[in-house]
Amino acid sequence: MVDFTLSEEQQMLQELAREFAMENVRPMAEHWDENSEFPMEAIEAAHELGLMNLHIPEAYGGMGMGTLDEVVVQEEFAWGDPGFATASYSNGLTAAPIITGGTEEQKSKYLGRLTEAPRIAAYAVTEPGAGSDVASIQSTAVKDGDHYVLNGSKMWITGAGKADWFFVLAYTDKSAGYKGMSAFIVESAWDGVSLGKKETNMGQRASDTRSVNFEDVQVPVDNLVGGVEGKGWFNAMTAFDLSRPNVAAHATGISRAAFEYALQYADERETFGKKLHQHQAIQFMLADMKTKIEASRALTWKSAWEADNGIRNTESAAHAKRFAADMAMEVTTDAVQVFGGYGYSEEYPVARLMRAAKVMQIYEGSSQVQRMIIGREMTRNL
Ligand SMILES: Cc1cc2nc3c(=O)[nH]c(=O)nc-3n(C[C@H](O)[C@H](O)[C@H](O)COP(=O)(O)OP(=O)(O)OC[C@H]3O[C@@H](n4cnc5c(N)ncnc54)[C@H](O)[C@@H]3O)c2cc1C
Repeated sequence: MVDFTLSEEQQMLQELAREFAMENVRPMAEHWDENSEFPMEAIEAAHELGLMNLHIPEAYGGMGMGTLDEVVVQEEFAWGDPGFATASYSNGLTAAPIITGGTEEQKSKYLGRLTEAPRIAAYAVTEPGAGSDVASIQSTAVKDGDHYVLNGSKMWITGAGKADWFFVLAYTDKSAGYKGMSAFIVESAWDGVSLGKKETNMGQRASDTRSVNFEDVQVPVDNLVGGVEGKGWFNAMTAFDLSRPNVAAHATGISRAAFEYALQYADERETFGKKLHQHQAIQFMLADMKTKIEASRALTWKSAWEADNGIRNTESAAHAKRFAADMAMEVTTDAVQVFGGYGYSEEYPVARLMRAAKVMQIYEGSSQVQRMIIGREMTRNL
């Protein structure tokens, strides 16, 4: 039996997130984007309302919710502002490998730091020379007594400028290939950690993206994730099964926002004596946009539901992330088309949404990488 009904609790959570997005996020979206301003005040407000750190277990001060609960909230956040959604979800992505692979002490200390106050954690895997091809990273961590000496440069790290701590992937044994990678929790205040300048990105400018350098950083052995070397690749990749449904929800929220603006405009604007949506070409365009949103949400919810029910969701998360991201690009492009010349102007929100949509096809595994994952999953038992 398939049931798409949200529980009463989930409906209340959705309502809370929707009101929060309407009051605290949407009205600030243009300002944050125009000024490249990090939305700390809104993150603090979300923290206060219990809308942050949803997936962190209650034992560490989190909300102890499931992935489906989380995606319902994340769609609303991205509807309000995609940059806010990305900036606030940095915690979700970074907490995931600690929840699944951290030691009890690491969970208690570092997840606890995220839940006791509005703090940011950042996921530092990508490097200047290695994005899709994670195994090509150059960062190294060499054991020296009771600590590791970490060296390397990370690039495009969401939330880096505000991070309290980082999840960092580095080689402890280069000769062992991806099995020689280990993950570390590195505090931003430690000696040898330095930040690059905030990148000027095409969109989602509320989010803070920058490089992070680690120069002879002394990382205590207690901060080796899971306490075992060689598990870094596994730690870093399993996080995506939990995070990709959320990124797909962000893409769905972007599409929904663009569609709503386009529908409203198509009802207000008249050409050739008719409202825009009375021209069948425009009506069909709007109909296709709506189908793409419904399909994106269905794939997103399925992958989240699988995660919550202990079903391996690597493939369904890749379907959801790839499809919803590609649809967000198509839907926002069509929304600009419905607005005509006004759509091309930053005076109207659809241009900002189109700029915001592009990165959905690039980060957390590009659309090409998602197809590689789907291809690998569908052929592995042949
Ligand atoms: C705004 C933003 C925020 C980000 N946040 C984070 C973060 O918080 N933490 C983090 O670690 N990283 C982050 N990233 C990095 C992001 O994950 C990478 O940019 C992404 O994985 C792609 O890597 P790349 O940029 O090195 O592109 P490349 O890997 O060089 O790829 C370039 C192009 O080639 C395609 N391609 C590559 N290999 C193949 C192949 N085998 N077959 C077909 N096509 C291929 C890619 O899809 C892409 O279109 C962020 C990036 C951006 C832009």
